Amino acid sequence: MSQQLPKLTPPADLRSDTVTKPTPAMRRAMAEAEVGDDVIDVDPTVARLEQRTAEILGKEAAIYMPSGTMTNQVAVRIHCKPGDEFICEAGCHIYNYEQAAYAQLSGVAVRPVEGQFGVLRLEQLVDLIRPENDHHVRTRLVCLENTHNRGAGRIQPYDEVVRITQWARQNGLRTHLDGARLFNAVVATGIPADQWAQHFDTVSVCFSKGLGAPVGSALAGPRDLIREARRHRKVFGGGMRQAGIIAAGALYALEHHRERLAEDHEKAQILAQAIRQTTRLRLVPDTVDTNIVIFEVAAELGTAGDFVARLEQYGVRMLPVSKTRVRAVTHLDVTIEQVQAAGRIIQELSG
Ligand SMILES: *Cc1c(COP(=O)(O)O)cnc(C)c1O
Repeated sequence: MSQQLPKLTPPADLRSDTVTKPTPAMRRAMAEAEVGDDVIDVDPTVARLEQRTAEILGKEAAIYMPSGTMTNQVAVRIHCKPGDEFICEAGCHIYNYEQAAYAQLSGVAVRPVEGQFGVLRLEQLVDLIRPENDHHVRTRLVCLENTHNRGAGRIQPYDEVVRITQWARQNGLRTHLDGARLFNAVVATGIPADQWAQHFDTVSVCFSKGLGAPVGSALAGPRDLIREARRHRKVFGGGMRQAGIIAAGALYALEHHRERLAEDHEKAQILAQAIRQTTRLRLVPDTVDTNIVIFEVAAELGTAGDFVARLEQYGVRMLPVSKTRVRAVTHLDVTIEQVQAAGRIIQELSG
């Protein structure tokens, strides 16, 4: 281990883009937020956030919820009945990281399909719609994720999204987009959010990821479905009273932190370049689309957990995502300089 390497203080916390703290301006917006009881009738700040989110996504309505897990699971609930099935990519968040809530809470089955770093092709799906008879569940919904978390922030190819969602519509299937990081895809491709969103019945977006707000996600879609979502949000325990306090942080993030996601993508490229210059670390996939970098750690360096523990000693925090793979996510609370320093530490420790 190198003695010359200085430990980063404060540490560069690259475990997730959820670790960000509200900026002073965001805290001011939160402190000054106008509020009301959003369960009895309306909280004006929540209402503004919902309106603005719907507008940006080109949908009739949107609804604020405490988490992306809830927006996704409420979406599944409004599209499916017990005994229905949805199709999704095998590495997606809804299937892997939400405790099979679709089964626990909604009696819904899942048909996961292995994609290429989170990307599905229409040809993989065309034969998956179950025939209509008493033996089968009913295929009801297709869920896509953009950008794809486990796919290392992969952007879904736009043309494929159009093909898959067109096919779904033609076959009477509903569509939901888990757009926890949709704005990363927007900034990286220049394709506006409403253009991505128009192909889906419902879209969920997170304010607490790269946008940097402390709490919340929204589900957007047609007015009648969002009305229905409001009922289910309540039964899932997501009815929040003076939620304007946190919605103000989300609204601030939505208005001020979308464009700057480009900086996070630049920082991810710096990390990717540092990793490419090592011999014992390998990017998977070998290109980085947005703000998530995943790399494979050669066996000589120990497990992914061992490598992460060594990084931690130098003030670089990352997340092991398997025995051999480590994830780093850039965000507004790490500077370019910190990322450059993290790159040098990675190189030193893997050399
Ligand atoms: C973070 C995330 C969510 C939602 O997570 P919560 O922690 O419940 O807000 C959903 N989908 C993806 C792809 C995510 O990365």
